[in-house]
Amino acid sequence: MCLFCKIVNKEIPANVIAENDDFLAFHDINPKAPVHILAIPKKHVDSFIEVSPETMAGMTTFIQDLAHEVKIQKSGYRVITNIGENGGQEVKHLHFHVLGGSKLAWGHFSDADPKNNL
Ligand code: 5GP
Ligand code: ZN
Repeated sequence: MCLFCKIVNKEIPANVIAENDDFLAFHDINPKAPVHILAIPKKHVDSFIEVSPETMAGMTTFIQDLAHEVKIQKSGYRVITNIGENGGQEVKHLHFHVLGGSKLAWGHFSDADPKNNL
């Protein structure tokens, strides 16, 4: 069972912020911003590549409600999902990083020359 499935099953503790039948949100263990929450589907999906439109519909509402709940809705925030090797995905259970609470940097994504388009 993967790390985030263990969090869903409460085999590993997490600081849970919001939950419904299908989704769970908890604080990232290594926050990169004042607000850094991970939103996941409870049912295991490897990554964004496999996710269904139905799950994404529920996830959208869940993240919107979450942003409201932690009061970053007006100030703004960022939603990121890393996908696979080049995307830098470390945990192979679909998760959305919800970052906010301060002005976020728009930074350095790659050492490759961005002008060398594929
Ligand atoms: P990825 O690089 O896969 O997009 O992001 C994985 C995220 O999960 C990282 O930001 C990392 O800090 C977080 N993380 C890894 N292990 C744990 C854990 O056991 N608990 C929590 N709450 N977050 C974790
Ligand atoms: Zn899983």
